[in-house]
Amino acid sequence: MQMQPSSAHAYIRSGQIPFFRLPCADLAAEARARAEVDAVILGVPWDGSVTYQPGARFAPYEVRRVSALVQPFHPRHRIDVFQALRTVDGGNVAVPPFDPRGARQAIQGEVERILALGARPFVVGGDHSVALPVMRALAARHGPLALVHIDAHADTSTSLIWGESIHHGTVIRNACDEGLVARGMLFQIGVRAPWGDRGDGDFARDQQAVVYAIDDVHDAGVGAIARAIVTAIGDRPTYLSLDIDGIDPAFAPGTGTPVPGGLTASEALRLLRSLAGLRLVGMDVVEICPALDHADITVHLGAALLYEGLALAALDRRARTP
Ligand code: MN
Ligand code: MN
Repeated sequence: MQMQPSSAHAYIRSGQIPFFRLPCADLAAEARARAEVDAVILGVPWDGSVTYQPGARFAPYEVRRVSALVQPFHPRHRIDVFQALRTVDGGNVAVPPFDPRGARQAIQGEVERILALGARPFVVGGDHSVALPVMRALAARHGPLALVHIDAHADTSTSLIWGESIHHGTVIRNACDEGLVARGMLFQIGVRAPWGDRGDGDFARDQQAVVYAIDDVHDAGVGAIARAIVTAIGDRPTYLSLDIDGIDPAFAPGTGTPVPGGLTASEALRLLRSLAGLRLVGMDVVEICPALDHADITVHLGAALLYEGLALAALDRRARTP
């Protein structure tokens, strides 16, 4: 199978737009063919677990569309991302729209299929709850993960308010409670939403999490924070969970629960570029709501951040290839 992106001409001619103009793959067929795939980009059109505005289910389609503009060669890392990391578009998970548990099972099953290929999953949500089954599959494979979490919210809520223990505001608590994240290996960046009460910070403290609230980000700078994170994590398999609302609504208006005063687009991109050296085993970009977007600002940023994550994995793969 040809693994390189198609030319701009070819994608216009075909009328179909896979992520980054990459080949589309049937993962079962890839497994039968024993194809060598290093990364699979997977759409997860699930937004049934939001507490406010829905619509993130349409993000995979819109991010695909604008990702066609992203070229493969990374000018700072000096790497052809898709040559170093053989990547395919794995399509979308066909989530059952009225069944959260069934949706999570479908997502986990699809990610397990990616891992069985020896590839790394890159997930475009969907709301943030889709990260939980991805991390379940990854932790089953790699053991407890390091988690780099960019978000306006801590996502450590409980069932107290809504009577539901798994939704887009609980996913980090769920992952830690299930032992998917190693103690002291949760790094939260950009958190700034006001708390329900004084106790909302207790969970992060009990997890020995490292929290870079937005003021810390601006005091220290994203480069210094990234260096500290890379040093602290070392060689541990790392998952990057990127809630687009971590970025300021001025740069990412297309999201369901915006919070003013976040990272700029430039800071977010620089942060990811500065995480080079991590052993990135998977990533998600979640909470993009195209119906609330303007001029494709948010979906372009989502595609660019996804590309930066793929570049990190490409660097890691190159470093590990003899
Ligand atoms: Mn959020
Ligand atoms: Mn979130």
